[in-house]
Amino acid sequence: MRTYKQSIHRPPAYQNLALWACVICMMSAAGCRHRPVETTPGIDSPRQTWVRVLLFGNLRMCTVASMSGFEIEDTASGTLANFRGNEPFVVQISGRTLVIGEHRFDGEVLIRPREPFVFRINDKPYRGHLRLRVNESEPVFEAVNLVPLESYLFGVVGAEMPSYWEPEALKAQAVASRTYCLFIKGRLGQRRSWDVTQSESSQVYRGLDAETQTVRAAVLATAGEVLVAPSAEGRELIIPTYYSSSCGGHTEAAGNVFGGEKIASLRGVQCGYCVGVARRGNYYWKPVTMTLRQVSEKLIQRYPTLEKIEPIVNFKVTKLGYKSRAVRVTLIGKNGATDTVRGEDFRLTLDPTGRKIKSAIFTVEKKGNRVSFQNGLGFGHGVGLCQCGAQGMARKGKTYRDILSYYYPDSKRVTIAPAETTTEP
Ligand SMILES: [Zn+2]
Repeated sequence: MRTYKQSIHRPPAYQNLALWACVICMMSAAGCRHRPVETTPGIDSPRQTWVRVLLFGNLRMCTVASMSGFEIEDTASGTLANFRGNEPFVVQISGRTLVIGEHRFDGEVLIRPREPFVFRINDKPYRGHLRLRVNESEPVFEAVNLVPLESYLFGVVGAEMPSYWEPEALKAQAVASRTYCLFIKGRLGQRRSWDVTQSESSQVYRGLDAETQTVRAAVLATAGEVLVAPSAEGRELIIPTYYSSSCGGHTEAAGNVFGGEKIASLRGVQCGYCVGVARRGNYYWKPVTMTLRQVSEKLIQRYPTLEKIEPIVNFKVTKLGYKSRAVRVTLIGKNGATDTVRGEDFRLTLDPTGRKIKSAIFTVEKKGNRVSFQNGLGFGHGVGLCQCGAQGMARKGKTYRDILSYYYPDSKRVTIAPAETTTEP
């Protein structure tokens, strides 16, 4: 998800604190990475209930280390090898064999650190286990972090929201992130060897680097809580709890942004809470100008089927959502033929970073062959929880329950047993 934290600039006081913390760590003989780490919650829970996070998809080499040492299981044979000491081991691939130190493994290994169950891959720390699996078709391997659900959320909440925000906003984020993870895991996890990525294509996960006491407290205070809503058949289903940085004044109906069926809890609500929280440049973003030729080239590169109307000489927003968010854009080719794209896809095709054209709320001004996106409002797709709005509500004394029922109307908060959402380990 493309959310608040990716654009956050910490206030100066916080920067100073962070700087001093680093200086103190560098001055200590042990250094930051040797500080005591709290043990990993849920390490004894059934493996099927853990989250499988794709860290890297096509490695040829990596380093693995753990302060507490680790054992490596050859998945096919069950053979175990023990590794001690904190020095990183280099993992390399040779044919379909993984070479780790002096050991060789066939195809797939599971790396299990000892208490507190933390390992480092390429010098980044994560909780849980690490599975390395050689690709079937080419000499590369994938690295998947197998991690208990609540421990996974430690690494998400602090990556998706500033950890110094109000505790109730952090709790709302924890429930939204837990629900979203289980929705994706249930829908897509059965079909692939991992449940979620570590990037915004799922939700950002930065392992131990994203953890703070406030983040852990928000996750543990809401442990197991997810949002459900009744389906057409009356069954209670986990909802896709989308969230984004700031909605610009009204959240958007999910169908208007992503297509698909209507979801009552994602129908869009008025939001007067984010305007005072979001950074000004993220709420009222600067105009972005480009040429029509650039617009045409970017769209055709992203959607090759548009070649049939090439070059695109004009476009019009032909369906609007709340706050005049572009929902559908009609593209007009030189030969007069037309085609359409979704407003959100349109803006992310013109600006894949999403950091210039920050939302699909804009007006279009054309002069000659130049086109300008103006009067931009908000940051992100605008569906579901408005993160800055959550912080605004929390500042006004609202609880995370208030926040969640506001942004996900008609949803119900339930506490689930881990076994209710499983995929094969
Ligand atoms: Zn908002």
